Amino acid sequence: RGTLYIVATPIGNLDDLSLRASRVLARADVIAAEDTRHSGRLLQHLGIQKKMIALHDHNERARAGSVLDELDAGRNVALISDAGTPLISDPGYVLVREARRRGLTVSPIPGACAFVSALSAAGLPTDRLLFVGFLPAKRSGRRSALEALCAETATLVFYESPHRIVDTIEDLVEVFGDRRELVLGRELTKTFETFYSGTAQEVLETLVSDPNGSRGEFVVMVHGAAPEDDESEDGLIEVDRLISALIEELP
Ligand code: SAM
Repeated sequence: RGTLYIVATPIGNLDDLSLRASRVLARADVIAAEDTRHSGRLLQHLGIQKKMIALHDHNERARAGSVLDELDAGRNVALISDAGTPLISDPGYVLVREARRRGLTVSPIPGACAFVSALSAAGLPTDRLLFVGFLPAKRSGRRSALEALCAETATLVFYESPHRIVDTIEDLVEVFGDRRELVLGRELTKTFETFYSGTAQEVLETLVSDPNGSRGEFVVMVHGAAPEDDESEDGLIEVDRLISALIEELP
C-alpha cells in the first residue's frame, strides 16, 4: 500500500521549502491540498504537475475516503495545507487518524510551522507551552476561553487573524491584566516580519499606534501565570541562602 506523507510547506518565504519536501512532492502520485488553486501556484513554482485532491475542513470526512482509496491502490499521497505544517490549525486530522487506524504508513516531512518559528525567536520560556490555536471569533466566547487559561503557568500560544488582533489583545489586557508579558510575531519569514514585545498594555498601544501594526498574520504568545506556590518557592530560596551563609560561617 502507498505511504501518506504529511508535508510542511513555507509560511511565507518559499526558500523555506525543504529539499526533502520538494523531492517528496515531485515523487508523490497524488497531492491532497487544502486549496488546490493556492497550492497549484507552489507546485507550478517547483515545476510539479500532479493529480490533486481538495481536502479542506468542510469536506474532509467525505474526501478522506478518496485519499485512502489511492493509498490502498498502492499510490503515494502527499498532504499539504495552504501554509506551514498540515494538521496544525489546518485540515488532515480525520485523514491521518483513519490512515493510522487502517495500519497505513504515515510519514511526516517537517518544515515551517508559524508557532514554532515564533516561539524560537520570542524570548519567552519554551520548556512548557500550550498551543491553543485560534480563539473563538466572538468576544464573549473569546473572553471565557481566556478566563479559563488565566492561571495557566505554561507559555500560551495563539493564532489570530489581522482583523481580530486588536480586539483579542484588548481582551488579553482585560482578562490577564495589563502587565502580563506578551510577544506578537507578525508576518514571520516575510518582508515585514516584526516582533512586538512588552506588557500586554504596551503591545496594545504599539499595535494601535502603528498604521500597519494590525496588518498581516500573527502568532500571539503570552508568558504563563506566576506559579501559585511562588511564595513557598521564594521561601525555599531564602532557606537555601541561609544554609549557604551558615555553612560559610562554619569553622
Ligand atoms: N499550519 C500552519 C502552521 O503550521 O503554522 C497554520 C495555519 S493557520 C490556518 C494560519 C494562522 O497561522 C494565521 O492566522 C496566523 O495566526 C498563523 N501564521 C501563518 N503564517 C504566519 C506568518 N508568516 N507569520 C505569523 N503568523 C502566521
